[in-house]
Formats: sequence, C-alpha cells, structure tokens
Amino acid sequence: MAANQAKNPIPAPPRRRIMGRMLTATCHCGAVRVEVPDRPASLTDCNCSICRRYGTLWAYYEAAAVRVIAGAGATAEYAWGDRRLRFVRCAHCGCVTHWEAIERAAGGRMGVNARNFEPGALGEVRIRRLDGAATWEYLD
Ligand SMILES: [Zn+2]
Repeated sequence: MAANQAKNPIPAPPRRRIMGRMLTATCHCGAVRVEVPDRPASLTDCNCSICRRYGTLWAYYEAAAVRVIAGAGATAEYAWGDRRLRFVRCAHCGCVTHWEAIERAAGGRMGVNARNFEPGALGEVRIRRLDGAATWEYLD
C-alpha cells in the first residue's frame, strides 16, 4: 500500500490558493447582485440619519474586492450633503444594496448591505453599533 504509493508517486495537486468563501448579496427581485470575497469580520448597525431609515447592516470591504452585477438602468442612487458617498438601491424592488465613494480612490472602502445575504450565510457574525449620528464611535 504505502510501497505502491512510493513506486507510483502521484504528482501533488497544484497548491490551491487559499480563497475566501465568496458570498453574494441580492436584492429582493434579483436584478442587483453584490459579490464579496468572504464573510465580514463584523457588521455595523449605524444610527445616522440615513442608515437608521434604511435599516441597513453594513459589511465593509475594500471597494476593489467587491463586484456589483447589475444591468444598465437596474440601479438608482441617493447622495446628499457633501456628496462623497452614494447609496445604491435596486431601481425595481427598492432594496438598498451598497454604498460607495462617488470618487473612487485606491484602497477605498465600500459598504455592502448584509441584509441582502441569505439568512445564515454569515453565521455568527458580531453586530457592532456605530454612533454615526454623533460621535462616529462604536458604542460597544
Ligand atoms: Zn431588485
């Protein structure tokens, strides 16, 4: 058995890159999909004026690591104030899918609405409460 293996060595398979477990968030109607490379380390529940209204839970990623798949005209967006970010939603079903910088910079982040992942896809990910309304500090 072991001797046989020694006589006919099977080449080792190429080393697989250690890949994250890619996850896809979809809006309710499926017109907008957001692919992320892995589970987030934590989620953020922010109390700022927009997040509390949207009821979003944010998973943050480097923007370059996220792929948004949506046809032309499938999304609508909202920006206000200093207009550095836009909140993107499905133009058909209205689900908020992500926010992104209006002017992308290298290494910039984006927020993906984790409410759009299938229940259970994230496992036991910690939800952190961010005081985006006032101090910009985590409350826990
Ligand atoms: Zn939709």
